Formats: sequence, structure tokens, C-alpha cells
Amino acid sequence: MKPTKGDTIKTITTHYIDGSFVESHGREVMDIIKPANGQVIGRVTLADEEDTRHAIAAAKSAFASFGRSTKEERAKILRRLHEAASARIDDLTSAMVEEYGGVVQFARPIVESGINAFLASEKALQELPLTRSWGKTTVTLEPVGVAALITAWNANALFICLKLASAVAAGCTVVLKPSEMSSLQTRVMIEALHEAGLPKGLLNVVTGLGNVVGAELTRNPDVAKISFTGSVAVGQKIMSDGAATLKRVTLELGGKSPTILLDDADLGKAIPSALIMAFLNSGQACAAGTRLIVPKKRLDAVKRAILDAMSAFTVGDPADPKTAIGPMVSQKQYERIESYIRKGIEEGAEVLVGGEGHPEGFEAGYYVKPTVFVNVKNNMTIAQEEIFGPVLCVIAYDSEEEAIQIANDSKYGLHGAVLGTDLARARRVASQIRSGRVVINNMIDDPQAPWGGFKYSGVGREYGRYGIQAFVETRAILES
Ligand code: NAD
Repeated sequence: MKPTKGDTIKTITTHYIDGSFVESHGREVMDIIKPANGQVIGRVTLADEEDTRHAIAAAKSAFASFGRSTKEERAKILRRLHEAASARIDDLTSAMVEEYGGVVQFARPIVESGINAFLASEKALQELPLTRSWGKTTVTLEPVGVAALITAWNANALFICLKLASAVAAGCTVVLKPSEMSSLQTRVMIEALHEAGLPKGLLNVVTGLGNVVGAELTRNPDVAKISFTGSVAVGQKIMSDGAATLKRVTLELGGKSPTILLDDADLGKAIPSALIMAFLNSGQACAAGTRLIVPKKRLDAVKRAILDAMSAFTVGDPADPKTAIGPMVSQKQYERIESYIRKGIEEGAEVLVGGEGHPEGFEAGYYVKPTVFVNVKNNMTIAQEEIFGPVLCVIAYDSEEEAIQIANDSKYGLHGAVLGTDLARARRVASQIRSGRVVINNMIDDPQAPWGGFKYSGVGREYGRYGIQAFVETRAILES
């Protein structure tokens, strides 16, 4: 991998500890590759255990005072964080397009929704009673302590802002470990947040590998809480290794979300909506609706509607506002998706759209063909495992009960959708889906509504008051 001629390579050798950018003690250097063309665009020096302990110590020392901050002090900080991050929306969006390959039509709203989390958390904090008393008993919500925030690469700005906002609202100090693949994006974000003039040590950031920095955060007794977004395997490891120091954990993990299309759905609206949910963030989305469950009697019409609607899902340069699907984040991710497409074909599913290999003209980057499989049985590998790419499985059902049974026949339970015309019926079906969030008729968001998974999709909730509650302990004081 060579740098593109004429491009400057961005070099990062520091971490953000105790309010300053400090040189890395860790010496390992990692290349940052641009997914759209496979070229090196950056080099980052990775943190080691000592950098991590340094950051934890700074957070611990800051917790002595910030842990006793008032609601109004925290609210002020949240407003300053919002202002500081808002000033860099364009830079944050460009960094997500460049380093991650996120399509600009999704990258900007995702950056904005992250930044809005600061104000949403402030609102939730104002509405959340931190003290309740009766008789001679007083119950308070106390910050849990130093919180480690460990995040994935597919929506870096959103994860950082969302977790930081909830932690600050609760009165916690923080050590953030972003994905090492999001180093350039994180740097823009931290430069922005630095301008908020935070108390020193409130926010510390160490960029490094999971099995080095993440492992130290998981075992260090001075870390009270881990808020994690990533894969099931790493979530399980954090939960089991964290048990030694009785870590509190919030785990936001994978998904294989069902979209139930009811037989009264208007296909002209429902199919584009289903495809948007399937191909969200180029398919690299935990909430992606990757199992479309359709009435058998409407299968032919559904196939025609999918073929018609696919023209809107153009593959291309992520910086082009017309592009709906960009490259995958890495060669590894490209290969993973290709292997699932092969597996689907081997298991007897039929390719309606897409298939193996790069789309024509996009051989240089990590592009895959958006793929729709039909004749999928829910017990096939492609219907059970999270692919994390633009691959949709269409599964047919005979009755509403069977549709619900297929939707719930998954180890995951993060998100779900119901598409139909009769709202009362759609609500009835939605109420039987075993997932943390279910949307009716479109992909929508509410920053005060909880986010998180049933089953293997995770433990705990984020967003609004649910997010703040994940960073507190409850204390009762009883007078005689
Ligand atoms: P990942 O689990 O490989 O990595 C996530 C983070 O954990 C990274 O920062 C990584 O460095 C760190 N890590 C790795 N090993 C570790 C260890 N031993 N100890 C501590 N930390 C360690 O996940 P990923 O590939 O970055 O992200 C994709 C996954 O994230 C998908 O499964 C996706 O569904 C999930 N995800 C979930 C949500 C949600 O809200 N539920 C959102 C986005 C992504």
C-alpha cells in the first residue's frame, strides 16, 4: 500500500490526556488506509498499557471533583460540548467520508445526530430527578466513577458523543478508546471538544488496539464502568474479564434485524423503505434490517418492486452526494462479505440482485455489490449471522404468526421494523418483536428513546435518561 502521489499523509503521535495532547509511550505505528482506493492516508502511533494507565489516573484524579458536580455544572459542560463540536460538522463529515468510506448522505446526519446527543442528554438530565426523599430517607443517583468508552468504527462521531454525553450528565470522568481504524476522525473530534474548555482529566483519549488498551481498561481496578459498542465476541470478553473487578457494563452489540412486510403494505412505499433500512451506512450498521420477511402470496410483486427500487442504491465515491453505497471499511471486511455471499449461494439461496466480486469500475477500493437474496430459509447462515455489509435476505411467510416467529427466531434482538397500512395491526405485530427498538413504516430516531438489545444484541440501554442511568449507582441515606 503506497500513498497516492501528491497526497499528504496525516501523522498522529499523541494521545489526549489530562487536557493536553501528549506524545505516545507506545511505539507501534499503524497505517490508515482509505477504503475508496486502498491508499495509505495516515499513520498513527498506537497507545500501550502505560499510556492507558496514565489516562486512567488522570480520569481518576478529575473524578474527585467532577464526581461532586451539580446538575447545572454538568448541563453547562454539555452545552459547551455541543457548541464546540457543532463548529466542526463539515470537518467531522469529511473525515468520516475519507477514513471510513461513509457515504456523505449518511455521514453528515450521523455526525449531526451525535452532536445533538449533547443537548438531548442535557434535556434528559434536567428531567431526571437525581434526588428523591421520603420521611428521613434520601435516595440519590451517584456517578459510578471512571468510565471507559470503547467504540466501533462504523459511526465513530456518534458513538463518542453519545457515550460522552451520558457519562458527563451522570458526573463520570472518561477514558475513551475509539477503534484504531477511526484515528483520523477521532483526532478531529477531540480537537473540536478540546475547545469546550473542559475540566482537565474529564475526557482522556487513548487510541490503540483492543487487546492492549481495551484489555487494560477492562482489568484496571480504577475503571468502574465500561460502555462498549462492537462485536458480540469482544463484548463477551469484556463481560467475562471485567468480572474480576466487578465492572458495570453496557454492551451495544450486533444485530440481524427483521423487517416484517404485512400483506396490506403499499409496495411502492414499503420496499424503498425496507431497502433503506437494509443498506443503511452501506450495510455496515448494527440496526440494518437485513431480513425482509414477506407474504408468500406477494413474493413475485415484492421481487419486481425490489428490482425497480434498486436503481436508487447506486454504488460509488462516498464523497458524491448521489452515492447510496460506498466501500466497505477494510479488505478484511470486503472478504468477510464476499465469503457470506458465496455461502448464501452454496446453501441454495438465489441471487436476485448483486452477487460476488467488485462492482464493475470499482476494483480499486473495498467495494462489494449490494446483494439481495431470495428463496432464503431463516435457518441458513446468511439469515442467522451478522454479515455487516449490504446483503439482504428475503424470507417468505404464510401467516402473520409465522412472520413473527421468523422475526424472533434469531439470537439477536437489537432492532426491527413493521411495514403495513393498518396501523393498529402494525402496532400489534411490533409489540411481539423481541428487540430493543421497533419502528413502524420508516427508519426513524428519537434521541430520548432507549437504544440497546435483547438477547445477544447486548446488555443495557443508551440515549436520553436510559443512557444516563447506565452511568450511575443508587445510594440511600437513612437518618434515625
Ligand atoms: P469489535 O468488537 O471488533 O471492536 C470494537 C472495539 O472493541 C474497538 O475499539 C476494538 O479495538 C475494541 N476491542 C477489540 N478487542 C478488545 C478486547 N479484547 N478488549 C477490549 N476492547 C477490545 O467491533 P467492530 O468490528 O469495531 O464493529 C462492528 C461490530 O459492532 C458489529 O458487530 C456491529 O453490529 C457492532 N455495533 C453495534 C452497535 C450497537 O449500537 N448495538 C453499533 C455499531 C456497531
